[in-house]
Amino acid sequence: MGYAIAEAALTEGHDVALISGPAIVEPPRNANLIPVSTSDEMFEAVHRHADKCDICVLCAAVADYKPVNVSSTKIKKRGAKFSLELIPTRDILDSLGHKQDRQFVLIGFAAETDHVEENAAKKLRAKNCDIIIANDVSGADSGMESDVNEVIILFRNGEKMKISRAPKKIIARELVKIFSNFATKMFDKKNVTIN
Ligand code: C5P
Repeated sequence: MGYAIAEAALTEGHDVALISGPAIVEPPRNANLIPVSTSDEMFEAVHRHADKCDICVLCAAVADYKPVNVSSTKIKKRGAKFSLELIPTRDILDSLGHKQDRQFVLIGFAAETDHVEENAAKKLRAKNCDIIIANDVSGADSGMESDVNEVIILFRNGEKMKISRAPKKIIARELVKIFSNFATKMFDKKNVTIN
């Protein structure tokens, strides 16, 4: 979905910095691709770029945990049970949401399997974003690893919109329009010009 949004934004003439972990789909050709391979690298890259953007869309499925220790050499097989100690990764969306004096529009995603709207609304408040896109990933035929999706868009003022089941490319185009309109209204209020 991230690549589809980047592509749609490029088509609309926006500059796009695409910070991405490894993916099986090809990134859009004209995007400024910033490849990362760990959650920490993504955290640093997002924070380096965020203040230069009008809109930050965070839709990566970042790992929730990372290993405490990383071995530079092969871990030898032992004939017994073996556990890895994990610690939570830093939440990038939450860190941007709680950034002092944030000037950009912040958009998050919520992939849910149950109580989709309710859980997404909780995330919008907890992570302090402007918009959250909720999608139901309980079925195999929409959401992750599928070319189609169906989303509910929740705004921080309580408004909501729905985009019915459609190819991700079409959904991405609609989302980019919604994000630009929101940003234009927000910057108009603050008397800021959007480029
Ligand atoms: O809490 P959950 O992982 O479901 O929230 C999803 C949203 O949070 C997505 O926008 C995802 O990109 C973002 N996220 C993040 N950093 C993490 C985990 C999730 O920015 N470590």
